[in-house]
Amino acid sequence: SIYLDYNASSPVEPRVLEAMVDIYKNNFGNADSRTHDFGDHARSVVETARKQVSSLLGVSTSEVFFTSGATESNNIAIQGLQTYALESGKNHIITTSIEHKAVMETVKVMSERGFIVDFIDPESSGRINVAKVLKKVCANTLLVSLMHVNNETGIIQPVKELGEELSKQNVLFHVDATQSCGKLVQEIRELKYNMLSFSAHKLRGPQGVGVLVLRKKEYKLPPVKAIMYGGQQEHGIRPGTIPVALVGGCGKACEIAEIEYKKDEAKLSAIKMSLLKLLEDSGLSYSFNGDQKYCLNNTLNLCLHGVSSEALMISTKQYCSVSNGSACTSKNYSPSYVLVSMGIPIEQIENSIRISWGPETNMGELEKEFFRMLSVAKSLAE
Ligand code: PMP
Repeated sequence: SIYLDYNASSPVEPRVLEAMVDIYKNNFGNADSRTHDFGDHARSVVETARKQVSSLLGVSTSEVFFTSGATESNNIAIQGLQTYALESGKNHIITTSIEHKAVMETVKVMSERGFIVDFIDPESSGRINVAKVLKKVCANTLLVSLMHVNNETGIIQPVKELGEELSKQNVLFHVDATQSCGKLVQEIRELKYNMLSFSAHKLRGPQGVGVLVLRKKEYKLPPVKAIMYGGQQEHGIRPGTIPVALVGGCGKACEIAEIEYKKDEAKLSAIKMSLLKLLEDSGLSYSFNGDQKYCLNNTLNLCLHGVSSEALMISTKQYCSVSNGSACTSKNYSPSYVLVSMGIPIEQIENSIRISWGPETNMGELEKEFFRMLSVAKSLAE
């Protein structure tokens, strides 16, 4: 069976796993127990990981805060601004209708608490129009939150252009880089933002750990306060005992990504070309969800005309693990809100699947299983 759901979670890279096992075996101390070597050694694992993350992102180590994952990072980045909002009188948030639920649901709660939230719809290309965002910015605007790459479509968003524009204004900019971290390495380094989130498990690190970057603009961190209380870990931004092995694994995954992303990029693109060729040769009628000109090379969101994605997934489940949306919402099926907001008709959404792969995806195996899946699709086509 071939795994083609990397955007939901990627397998842990063997070198990451090896590093983590070593930490679990030999570095089980609490990184904040500073009265003995066990604590000191654990602390040094955490600080090495912080260096690895900061090196990948091109930020300073004092700007990296470990969290339990992108969901928590997004929550801190958004909810953590409430005190500042009260102090500054700024109560307007701009985001988009294609964000992950971790942003979407958080800003919805903020609107229940009195914030005014604007959701910008994407163009049919799957991309957000920068001018539409900028038009909404006003004196009360506290925050703009835009994802770097959409998890369902793989469409790269214009965070670079938007960051450039927003940096000239007194507005905070948050980027959910969960799907791009470790892939669009150079682009992330050049972005202008105040806050950035990601989860380690999307770049072959472990599940349950992530990062919130708080950029020091003029040597001052964004006015983010903790949303959970306890210890002073991560400067109180994320209290609770630091999961040393998870953090170490996150660091190792970032280190590997930094060294290998160019090579990986070529592999991911080659896989995409081969999938597109098989698709073309299949004779099936299909269309892409999202303009492929802007699509990341590890994702394909595809509509196979006349083929119910549910029927296709049930029939091919044993050997092909694709999805029809984000994993977080796939239990109770309702048409993807991302595709809906792109203006794609419901019938087409019901015939859509998402395929996402990674650097260790075996090309030969993939071709074999994808071909098999397309044959089933042909038999299901109305
Ligand atoms: N943002 C994006 C864009 C994502 O794809 C995901 C994971 N699907 C998240 C946030 C949340 O990540 P986690 O579940 O690891 O907290």
